[in-house]
Amino acid sequence: RSSKGVFDQVSNLTVAVRIRPMNAKELACVGSADVVKVKNQDLIIRSNPLGNSSMSLDHVFQYDHIFWSCDETKSLYASQKDIFATIGKPLLNSAFRGYNACLFAYGQTGSGKSFSMMGANTCEIADIDSEEFSGLTPRFCRELFERISNLKSDTTVSVEVSYFEIYNEKIHDLLASPNVINKLPLKVREHPEWGPYVVDLSVHTVKSYNELRNWLILGNKSRATAATTMNEKSSRSHSIFSIELSLTEGLDDSDTSRRSKVSLVDLAGSERLGSSHNSDEKIRQGVSINKSLLTLGKVISALADHKKNIFVPYRDSVLTWLLKESLGGNSLTCMLATITPANSNLDETLATLRYACQAR
Ligand code: ADP
Repeated sequence: RSSKGVFDQVSNLTVAVRIRPMNAKELACVGSADVVKVKNQDLIIRSNPLGNSSMSLDHVFQYDHIFWSCDETKSLYASQKDIFATIGKPLLNSAFRGYNACLFAYGQTGSGKSFSMMGANTCEIADIDSEEFSGLTPRFCRELFERISNLKSDTTVSVEVSYFEIYNEKIHDLLASPNVINKLPLKVREHPEWGPYVVDLSVHTVKSYNELRNWLILGNKSRATAATTMNEKSSRSHSIFSIELSLTEGLDDSDTSRRSKVSLVDLAGSERLGSSHNSDEKIRQGVSINKSLLTLGKVISALADHKKNIFVPYRDSVLTWLLKESLGGNSLTCMLATITPANSNLDETLATLRYACQAR
């Protein structure tokens, strides 16, 4: 692409990669090594980092942004705050201009999707609001209300949030009141004017950041509870937190209104099913998760391909169908691919980087 990292009429898509630090388990592995190197704008993966350099095969990738988390002295080091400033703020700007936006975290389980989207502990106010750990979603919402407080006094503002997950191509409301929690999965319909929507999804009007944060934490807790009662659910489900902003300026007939929707998406783990996981249930889960992630990849690469009239297969998965109005057109899209630097994860890391590349 010619316009790297810049949102303009030609490209509304940004792809960023975040490398998390090695964890204690990875460091303790015999023969453990860091496979990631960054040189100029290149992200280099060394498939044989401990071996003779002439024998090793390097894979080179380029993205709009590369965020390093390992060492604060490295020039590419990016804190949670830096990441919000680089990829979160443009989405907020676009929402205030009346355009939809989408941000996805993509990567294998344990690579830092939820840390990036939410924070170190997704169920505690102290962590959600911590200067160090607070992730993209709470930062986005805090700044949203800060900006709202600075709007002209004749602006009427409405903020509505919803939070749901897609598991096996089925939708579950994370903010439903307890008496409807065991109901059947929710359905998607398409409104002729507003596009696809989830029937009976609870939508909550919020007047302040604190009010919004309560819903966020409630949803995170529903997610965590579901994950412990149903093994591995959290890594196999996509969670979508949506914020609808509506702004009306002026009090007379010449009122101007802007409406936008921002979806912040923590995708299911991208790891493939191992051959040892052969039960029918696992296969069924794997197929539908692959279907959503695969379709998202196809949709994004179709959008990145600027040829007119190219077919975009939105309806091939629940995730892409629902996000249809936030992907393409004037919407801004950001893909944050998260990877680990450990050689033990080399194959998954390469798969993630290739997936993120098809979006460019
Ligand atoms: P995922 O959502 O992809 O499964 P998590 O976000 O839960 O992964 O991250 C796995 C672990 O690694 C968590 O303990 C998290 O706090 C830690 N972690 C992830 N990314 C970072 C980072 N950039 N810096 C420090 N710790 C991180």
